[in-house]
Amino acid sequence: MKNRNLYVAAAAGAVLVALALVLRTFSALPLPIPEAYAGPIPSARPPMEMAVFSVVTGVNHRVAAFGFRGGSLFERREFSMAGALVKHPKGDLLIDTGFGRNIDQQFRTLPLLFRTITFYSLWQPAADQLRAAGYDPKSLHAILLTHSHWDHVSGLPDFPGVPVWVTPQEHEFIRKSGDMDFCRLFTGIRYEEYSFEGGPYLGFPASHDIYGDASIVVVPAPGHTPGSVIIFVTLPDGTRYAFVGDLVYQLDGITLREERPWLVRRKADTDAEGNRENMLRIIALKERIPELIIVPAHDMRGFARIPRLPQTSSRTFMSQ
Ligand SMILES: [Zn+2]
Ligand SMILES: [Zn+2]
Repeated sequence: MKNRNLYVAAAAGAVLVALALVLRTFSALPLPIPEAYAGPIPSARPPMEMAVFSVVTGVNHRVAAFGFRGGSLFERREFSMAGALVKHPKGDLLIDTGFGRNIDQQFRTLPLLFRTITFYSLWQPAADQLRAAGYDPKSLHAILLTHSHWDHVSGLPDFPGVPVWVTPQEHEFIRKSGDMDFCRLFTGIRYEEYSFEGGPYLGFPASHDIYGDASIVVVPAPGHTPGSVIIFVTLPDGTRYAFVGDLVYQLDGITLREERPWLVRRKADTDAEGNRENMLRIIALKERIPELIIVPAHDMRGFARIPRLPQTSSRTFMSQ
């Protein structure tokens, strides 16, 4: 009898601990409100021909609770699996690839636990979307990664010969070959490293101005992965985008100042504190520039603010 009581007490204790863990993991606990960014807002000289197009390749069927603390376990969210095409007269760039043609085979190489909680739909790979829009693949100068996780690099093999731009830290991360990326499966990818030779930019300590006209500026944002970056794009009409990769999964992370749930942070981020620091920088920047359009890789609402690729080939699109 005594033993039985002990078992019951131990089981009840375990349930309580598990419940506390779940509640703590998913309950809201906003980050402190940072001071608005107070530094200079550098001017940009984007060429008139510049444009950005969204390339949403599919979705992951998730719930809000997966994306940010306080999110409901019952609110369905379609997480975009996406990239963006930046057209620039000095060379077009694709920011991330989203799902590629071989996503089904690639997905089978991911850890079993992750696969059992992940349900995705492939819409159309980036390479096929570009082709359908009449885009000449030769115009693509490089693929610029926000980071190297599976859902951002899946389409790399669909662009043979196109250089892939990464930071030295992310290149090293790719070499170490974590179980959440596919890069180890790919052969013949031409990685090219770039560095942050430029000074501070919009609250970030360093920068890389790709074409020297401040139209596309990359800043380091380590945390989610060691070489994660944020890509600022400024268009001729003054529209400013911040492609933040997986800094947050959903915009609520910024607007509510809510990090990913603890369990997700533990699995997804290599340095959650570093990621938090960069989240606060973006939150402070959004205070100062409310019109800044923040585009997390997995939030449809960000991509809805970007024009879609033309559905059929159009002369204007091809000739730009
Ligand atoms: Zn990621
Ligand atoms: Zn991702």
